[in-house]
Amino acid sequence: MSTRGHLEVKNSHLILGGVDTVTLSEQFGTPLYITNEARIRANYRRFKEAFPDAEIYYAAKSNYNLTVLKILAEEGAGADVFSGGELHCALKAGIPSDKILFNGNSKTDAELEMAVKNNVRISVDSLDELRTLSEIAHKYDNLVGISFRVNPDISPRTHPKIATGLKESKFGIPFKEIIVTYKEAQSTENIKIEGIHCHIGSQILDVSPFLEATKKMINLVKELARFGIHLEFIDIGGGLGISYENEVAPSPKDLADVILPVFVEGTKALEIHPKLVLEPGRYIMADTTILLTKANTVKHAYRNFVGVDAGFNLLIRPAMYDAHHRIVVANKADEKSSSVYTIVGPICESGDVLARDRFLPKIEKDDLIAILDVGAYGFSMSSQYNGRPRCAELLVHHGKVDIIRKEESYDDLLVNQVLPSRFR
Ligand SMILES: *Cc1c(COP(=O)(O)O)cnc(C)c1O
Repeated sequence: MSTRGHLEVKNSHLILGGVDTVTLSEQFGTPLYITNEARIRANYRRFKEAFPDAEIYYAAKSNYNLTVLKILAEEGAGADVFSGGELHCALKAGIPSDKILFNGNSKTDAELEMAVKNNVRISVDSLDELRTLSEIAHKYDNLVGISFRVNPDISPRTHPKIATGLKESKFGIPFKEIIVTYKEAQSTENIKIEGIHCHIGSQILDVSPFLEATKKMINLVKELARFGIHLEFIDIGGGLGISYENEVAPSPKDLADVILPVFVEGTKALEIHPKLVLEPGRYIMADTTILLTKANTVKHAYRNFVGVDAGFNLLIRPAMYDAHHRIVVANKADEKSSSVYTIVGPICESGDVLARDRFLPKIEKDDLIAILDVGAYGFSMSSQYNGRPRCAELLVHHGKVDIIRKEESYDDLLVNQVLPSRFR
C-alpha cells in the first residue's frame, strides 16, 4: 500500500495524526470524517512560504468547519467566502473582516447588507449588483471596498463542472467590459474601488493557465491605472490541484516560480504596488482528512461490490465530478492486494459508487475502508439524503482526538420541520 505525506501504517492499521483509525472506529463508530490538524498547518505554511508577500484567503467553501477555520485564522489566513453562512462562520472563527472577500455571482440583498455592516470587502459580479450595493452602503452610510470579478476567458484543463473562467461561465464580468465597468464604479456613491479578482477553476494541475490569468489581470490593472484607477490588490483566486491518484501536481512553489516574476515585473511601474491575493481551498484541506467507513456487506455479482456505511450523502465528489479517491483498507493497511473491488454506498441511487474497480486486500464484512483526500468539498457538500444523519467529524493532533462536529441523530432529520396543527 502506498500512503502519502502524513499517513502511516502500524501493526497493519492506518494511523492518522498519531492516532490508530481502527481504535477511532471502535470508540466513535463509523462513518467518520477524521482530520489531521498538523497537516492543515503544514499545507498552509507551505503555501505561505511560497508566497511570503501575498495574502492567503482560504476558500471557506472547501471546508467551513469552525475548528478548521480557527486553525487557519491562527495561521494568519484570511477567507474567501461565497455566502452569508460562510461569512458568519469565518467571522465566528476570528478571521479579521479586513482579510475577508465576499464572492458570489448571485448575492441576496441581505448578504450584501451583512457584508457592508461587517466592513467586509465585496467582489462584485455585475453592474446590477454594484448599484444594489451602492444603495445598501448609502443606507448604512458606509464606504464599501470592492473588487470586480473578471471573467478572464481562460480554459484550464479540468473537469467541466469546475472550470469557472470560461467565457460562457456564469461567473464574473466579461473581460472586454471590465474597463467600462470600473469607470462606472468610479462615479458610484459609497463605493471604493480596491482590487480586481478572478478565479479560473479548480483542481488545476498545470501552472500555465495561472500564468495566463496573471498576465491578463496585470494588463487590466495597467490599463485601469491609465484612467486613474489605482488598485490595492490583485486576487487571482484559487484552484491549485492536488494528486488524487498518481497525477503530478505542481506545488505552491512551482506556482510561485511561474507567476511571481511576472507579477513583480508587471506591477513595478505602477503608482501603487498592489498586493497579490490567492484563494486556495483544496490545496490546504484536501489531503488532511479521511472518511472512515465500514463494510456492511461484500457481494460477488457482476462486480465485487463492497457495500459500506457512507454514500454520496457524505462524499459526493465521485458521483458529481467522477472524482477518484484513493482507498486504503484501514485494518489491513499493509496486506497484499488480491482482488478488484467496487466500493458502493447505501444510497438508493445507482450512481452511489465511491470507488470503482480497485485492487485491494481481501475485504470482508466489518473491514474498515478509508477514503483518502476528502478534506475539501467532502463534508461541506454533504446532505441528509435518504434520511441519513451526517456523521461526526474528528480532529486528530499528535496522538490526541477531539470531536469537532457531533454526529447527527434521527431527530436531527426532523429538527426544523413543523407539523401544521391539524396533523398533530
Ligand atoms: C472555490 C473557489 C476557490 C477555491 O478553489 P480551490 O480549487 O479549492 O482552490 C477560490 N476562489 C473562489 C472565488 C472560489 O469560488
